[in-house]
Amino acid sequence: MSVKRIVVLGATGSIGRQALELIDANAELELVAASSGTTPIDGLAPLTQVGGDVTELLERARADVVLNAIVGFAGVRATLWALEHGVTLALANKESLVAAGDLALAAKERGGGLLLPVDSEHSAMLQLLADRSPDQVRSLVLTGSGGPFRGRRREELEDVTPDEALAHPTWSMGPKITVDSATLANKGLEVLEAHFLFGLPYDRIEVVVHPTSIVHALVRLRDGAVLAHLGYPDMRMPISYALTYPARAATPVPQLDLASGLTLEFEAPNLDVFPLLMLAREAGERGGTYPCAFNAANEVAVQAFLDGRIGFLDIAAAVEDVLERVDGSPARDLQELIEADRRARELVPVA
Ligand code: NAD
Ligand code: MG
Repeated sequence: MSVKRIVVLGATGSIGRQALELIDANAELELVAASSGTTPIDGLAPLTQVGGDVTELLERARADVVLNAIVGFAGVRATLWALEHGVTLALANKESLVAAGDLALAAKERGGGLLLPVDSEHSAMLQLLADRSPDQVRSLVLTGSGGPFRGRRREELEDVTPDEALAHPTWSMGPKITVDSATLANKGLEVLEAHFLFGLPYDRIEVVVHPTSIVHALVRLRDGAVLAHLGYPDMRMPISYALTYPARAATPVPQLDLASGLTLEFEAPNLDVFPLLMLAREAGERGGTYPCAFNAANEVAVQAFLDGRIGFLDIAAAVEDVLERVDGSPARDLQELIEADRRARELVPVA
């Protein structure tokens, strides 16, 4: 039996804690290092770190797989380190891939390792695409629940509170991604993530609203066939898939009950009410550090909303404003990327 050495970054978060449970229950997975942002984690793993740059921890851990479950741009160093060193990267921290974009892909090219998405939609896409030749694929379809405010009019969102935004209908997640799910910024980040993971142009990455989150993604093929990936909304499945790839270990996730009636509904997202989805796509099409600026402005605005400093609709307004003011020129290295992230943050009116 070969045991995989795993590092869990963001071990105290929603994804991190679920990963620790899966590792604990699987004799073929060994936790060798763990990190958190601020919560003490002494004794959780042979090597632990709270806050700061995790590069040295990664150097010492000699891991087979790095699970990056840090939230936000703070995860970018870990993503680039794993890609550069060819250590398998199980990536929950979508913000780092979106922000680093071409820099991350160049690091992956040099490192030659695996990049396995933990985001449920992208994990599903990876499984649907398998070894299929790219010319068979017409488009990728990302599904999203539509969040707690699906079906509302813009005026009805003016006064919504952080508590209302944090009440997600189908997934239980950390606060930042839960707000992103309510604004559809999360689906926007996921369009960008899909572009960098699978190399398709933006006009071949679709988004559809699917309220029950049973279908995680679809792939349209050129002959008209559409493949779908189904399962209950439970992150243990994509986390386990990435940690045990390609073995696909058993998980405690319940089997999908087909006998008691499964209705699958889909609808188009409302871009007038949820402009962040469109703004993300535009940032992707403009390229350079526009995706980095989109992410940075969104992170600052979401935190301001959670702190009660701005309203829900102000999040999208702030991001739109920042995207109009940055120059978006490409970053040639990590230092320039960090600089682009910082400049975008400073432009958010609430900062
Ligand atoms: P969370 O807020 O529950 O946990 C975040 C973790 O990151 C914590 O361990 C925290 O201590 C750590 N952290 C925060 N700031 C840090 C910093 N500056 N430096 C180092 N560590 C820091 O978040 P989450 O919901 O687990 O999400 C983690 C990532 O996974 C996000 O990028 C999110 O978009 C992605 N994701 C989450 C889910 C989900 O179901 N929760 C689903 C898909 C993708
Ligand atoms: Mg997702």
